[in-house]
Amino acid sequence: MEDCVFCKIVSGDIPSSKVYEDDDVLAFLDITQATDGHTLVIPKKHVRNVLEMDEKTAETFFSRVPKLARAIQKAMDAQGLNIINNNEKVAGQTVFHAHIHLLPRYQEGDEFDFQFVQHEPDFVKLAKLAKTIQKEVVV
Ligand code: 5GP
Ligand code: ZN
Repeated sequence: MEDCVFCKIVSGDIPSSKVYEDDDVLAFLDITQATDGHTLVIPKKHVRNVLEMDEKTAETFFSRVPKLARAIQKAMDAQGLNIINNNEKVAGQTVFHAHIHLLPRYQEGDEFDFQFVQHEPDFVKLAKLAKTIQKEVVV
């Protein structure tokens, strides 16, 4: 897609530090390196994000993640790894070509921070939310 920075990386019009490539998927280092080895995994085919991804693309795309995560952890001698995927601006997406962040982690309390707000469990609310979502899931 024209004007998409990740499509330009796929086509080679913009250079990148590639760590893995096959017919459908590319992985390269994120330019900002939130932690050392911070890697982006993308489908080569342009798709905006997971909210617009078909199942076949998802199968190929997501299936590469475990082996890449293991390779990065081993190569970087990391203790753990976060997998982050942002969909739409409100969720922090800034590049609108689907991608997954793989973030190797080296020690607790390091500079990368990511926390869920912890609410007291509200079981009535949970039951309602689950029902609302179940109705939209097409099996
Ligand atoms: P998002 O915020 O959309 O989840 O993440 C987009 C990521 O793409 C950011 O972490 C940013 O550093 C990275 N990025 C943006 N432009 C480029 C680029 O030209 N090359 C590389 N390697 N990474 C980029
Ligand atoms: Zn693209």
